[in-house]
Amino acid sequence: MIQYSFLFLSLFVASICAAPPEYLSSRESVQHPLVDQLVTIEPECNAAEQKSIRHALSDAYEIAEIAQHIQKTDPAFSNYFVKGDKKFVPAMFESFLSGGGSHKKFPITCVHASSPENHKFCLGGNLAFVEADKDGVEKIFLCPQFFGNPAPPPGYGTTALTLSSKKFTAQGWCTPPPHILGHYTSLGAHTILHEMTHITFIATHALNPPRLPHGFRLVVDLMGQPDELHPGHFYNDWPPALARELKHRWDDYQAAQAKEDFSYKMPPVPTSRIAENYADSGVEYYFEKKCSNFKPADILVKAN
Ligand SMILES: [Zn+2]
Repeated sequence: MIQYSFLFLSLFVASICAAPPEYLSSRESVQHPLVDQLVTIEPECNAAEQKSIRHALSDAYEIAEIAQHIQKTDPAFSNYFVKGDKKFVPAMFESFLSGGGSHKKFPITCVHASSPENHKFCLGGNLAFVEADKDGVEKIFLCPQFFGNPAPPPGYGTTALTLSSKKFTAQGWCTPPPHILGHYTSLGAHTILHEMTHITFIATHALNPPRLPHGFRLVVDLMGQPDELHPGHFYNDWPPALARELKHRWDDYQAAQAKEDFSYKMPPVPTSRIAENYADSGVEYYFEKKCSNFKPADILVKAN
């Protein structure tokens, strides 16, 4: 599940950022080949929704192709993951690209007000979720909000933002530092990357866990998990902020353990099992590689 993030609208002073000039024109019309190979878009989605989904999926595969090369020394890795996750993170992006290592397809469908049994999961600003259907097939459900319905308040962006919405220049994606994390997470592809980690066959290929109980969700959300430092409270914040907070908590916990300070409580879920950490890390890494002026230390963790 993911809640919508907001686009920051502002003007920036020009400077140069390298981007191949043919990039924008070519990707406007070309769909990534993995979209048809690895995803079934169900007919519940209307023509306009299908177009948005194809665009978001194409972007997600493009980001994953870059992000599969992430290493534990990259800031986009260490902002979200502990060193022990070093195999899992590139493996997750590789798993997106290989259909869980076996070219297996997953379905995407669209939720409308006329489907009340699923629509309730779209309340509260949720963009999307993964559920198993009656045959046990896990599916990404996209909520009306994913398509900007209802539209975000004026001055806020849309999650249907695509990589081709802006040029890779200082006036476009590659704004000078400080960078606003919410600019990048406003991509529809960010939501898709997040949801893909919830699909068990994709997560299993990446994380290679011991045998799982039936119906066990390997990659989950931090939102709503018990807050180990504040008993009786639950994690509740903008998801990218939670993703970074969890990494800090694990750093503090591991540092305390190393000093044999056992008073420090263990966070409820490992970073490698949180969907948002992969989506944020992958998107951050992608822009670090695409924008020559991108300074990982100069990212403001805010929505807009
Ligand atoms: Zn989620």
